[in-house]
Amino acid sequence: MAVQDEPLHILFFPFLASGHLIPIADMAALFAGRGVRCSILTTPVNAAIIRSAVGCANDAFAGTGSPTIDIAVVPFPDVGLPPGVENCTALTSLDDRDKFFQAAQLLREPFDRFLADHRTDAVVSDSFFNWSVDAAAERGVPRIAFLGSSMFARSCSDSMLRHNPLENAPDDPDALVLLPGLPHRIELRRSQMMDPAKKPWNWEFSKSVNAADQRSFGEVFNSFHELEPDYVEHFHKTLARRVWLVGPVALASKDMAVRGTDAPSPDADSCIRWLDAKPAGSVVYVSFGTLTKFAPAELHQLARALDVSGVNFVWVIAAAEGQDSAEWMPEGFAELIARGDRGFMVRGWAPQMLILSYPALGGFMTHCGWNSVLEAVTAGVPMVTWPRYEDQFNNEKLVVELLKVGVSIGAKDNASGIEAHEVIAAEVIAESIQRLMESDAIRKKAKDLGAKARSAVEKGGSSYDDVDRLMDVLTARRSSVEAGEDIQAS
Ligand code: UDP
Repeated sequence: MAVQDEPLHILFFPFLASGHLIPIADMAALFAGRGVRCSILTTPVNAAIIRSAVGCANDAFAGTGSPTIDIAVVPFPDVGLPPGVENCTALTSLDDRDKFFQAAQLLREPFDRFLADHRTDAVVSDSFFNWSVDAAAERGVPRIAFLGSSMFARSCSDSMLRHNPLENAPDDPDALVLLPGLPHRIELRRSQMMDPAKKPWNWEFSKSVNAADQRSFGEVFNSFHELEPDYVEHFHKTLARRVWLVGPVALASKDMAVRGTDAPSPDADSCIRWLDAKPAGSVVYVSFGTLTKFAPAELHQLARALDVSGVNFVWVIAAAEGQDSAEWMPEGFAELIARGDRGFMVRGWAPQMLILSYPALGGFMTHCGWNSVLEAVTAGVPMVTWPRYEDQFNNEKLVVELLKVGVSIGAKDNASGIEAHEVIAAEVIAESIQRLMESDAIRKKAKDLGAKARSAVEKGGSSYDDVDRLMDVLTARRSSVEAGEDIQAS
């Protein structure tokens, strides 16, 4: 086959965290469905996380003429971490985190080898692999950055990194600090922001990530134009970047039950049956992604809140978290769950997208990880927002203040999974849940937004068209390269 007639080939290179792997596997399914040959480069434990989803996509494409998706598995570099610790979820100390990032640097060698051995039209690289911009350029391959966040949050962090507004802000954790240069007046509490004085490592890393993305061929977003139009404009005009919004990519998933895991919770099927029996809009789904950890005192208040709120709920609790229920479970809570009339607990991995799509769903209490936010938007489900760190506070602003599809519980402290958080009282949490479940206006807005999200990926929708635009650019670039024109990778 002449080179021009071969399908485009894109290498996807996700960071080693489920919240990065899941949308990349979805995006590969999306692009493969549009005729692109897709490869995903990752390590064994991370390959296992996406293997079922990729297998389902390949099965769905069988006989349709769509190219298949390959997973190129490379060993996790030996940096002294215990065997099997290959994903952010397994990190429990700052020392391990440092080793983990060292391993991420060492993936440059297999990444480079892949590009040397395969004709590749573009790399969709996780922004966290900041070195891949140079590695791809050395092989003449355009790097398209993917951070897996919203354009809004990306614009906020760009504003932070450019202007460092904390430098001249009052030294009061509650002081409201303005993020300059954005389309809206966006203020956060000092305590909610990344503070370069307190976390110089995070600051420097974010700066290098931003710089590498700026030097890239462009950026791809799991978002859609109608969701954050002012920030699409901001990127194009103010930041002069090439961007493609191709989401919500979760809609490309071929089997929601196995998305993001090789080991669904044994509670998953009964949870679905339980939801089936509940009235429309009556259940709040409580889940905080893959990295968030709660102290026993926080779990205690959350459990009390779910009890006193009087609302039906599904609560997903990670297998390792809250194992010792004597440490946190309030009196009467085990009985509430055992009765099965008002509350259901999923221990382990829940089929989140599937759950969110159930008519019984009336709200989602979320930490505002971008995947979760966009999944809620897609399903038309409003949110109770409880951000924990980094871009989650920005995503909360978008959800509550700009889109008006959520109620905040008022979390103030930006602290990572392995740091302590302020304990929020059950009464405050319960009040936010009740306010959300009682608001017709918020519910209606969320439903409207869900309809827009779903039509964005339909033929003729904005995300559908952005995939076309990206394919056209890459096809034109390949023709120029084949014609021997002197083409830069960025
Ligand atoms: N997820 C899931 N089941 C779970 C926990 C998480 O399907 O029990 C998925 C969720 O649907 C989302 C991703 O894991 O796609 C979490 O990503 P997000 O950006 O929300 O949070 P992170 O884990 O990166 O903090």
